[in-house]
Amino acid sequence: MKLLKILVPFLFLIFLIGCSKDSTDSDNGTPGVDKSANLKALGASANELLSDAKFTSLRIEIVYVTGFKPTDEALNNLAQFLTQHTFKPDGLSITTRAVTSTNKAPFSIQEIAEIEKVERSVYNVGDEIAIFIYVADGSNEKDVNDKVILGSAFRNTSVVLYGKTIEKIANNSNAVNKSDVETAVLNHEFGHLFGLVDVGSPMQVNHEDPNSEAHCSVSGCLMTANIEFGGSIIDMVETNIPDLDDLCINDLVANGGR
Ligand SMILES: [Zn+2]
Ligand SMILES: [Zn+2]
Repeated sequence: MKLLKILVPFLFLIFLIGCSKDSTDSDNGTPGVDKSANLKALGASANELLSDAKFTSLRIEIVYVTGFKPTDEALNNLAQFLTQHTFKPDGLSITTRAVTSTNKAPFSIQEIAEIEKVERSVYNVGDEIAIFIYVADGSNEKDVNDKVILGSAFRNTSVVLYGKTIEKIANNSNAVNKSDVETAVLNHEFGHLFGLVDVGSPMQVNHEDPNSEAHCSVSGCLMTANIEFGGSIIDMVETNIPDLDDLCINDLVANGGR
């Protein structure tokens, strides 16, 4: 695994371009639906997602290209992760819906945002906060060889998973299955929506990776940068799916979570 270690500096670079610094324009055209609360910058809804002060339930809409439906196991694991770290007394719902391919792979994050504009149907209503997850049938356009991006949280309530890349990574390993990789990537991206690290949930003590903005420096933590990338993620999920370390959890607790 020496090769992977050598690749790490490049992975960080890819992250800087492809992960939390992604931004998209926020215009939206559907009359009658106020989408503005769901079109903010990454981390802007961390407290709203973690605590029950403003929103008491959480609704997740997963839109996947046919053939790339996340496994039930991964969605169950995600639900467990969310229950563990948020206060949503009125519950959590996850709906899935298949759509046809846009045939535009590989994708820029702007193209993913354009797809969201067309496909997203769930926005915040009353005391329910909504999240959109798109599972793409292709890769991010910035992928190179072993340096591939598995997912990205690109707005306060928007996530993309690169389904084809995740499948390829999982198929290349005998030691891990697709649901393990999906779980790790989904939970990691929710960590970003929850404001980790120091993007929406202020750090209580310094534990940000000096080489990778918004990522954790504690080895083995779910929020380390290598969860987002192919290759290194296999090493991490081989033994068990990583969880948040105490420093990340402390940040969530300080911002209304648990
Ligand atoms: Zn990340
Ligand atoms: Zn951490």
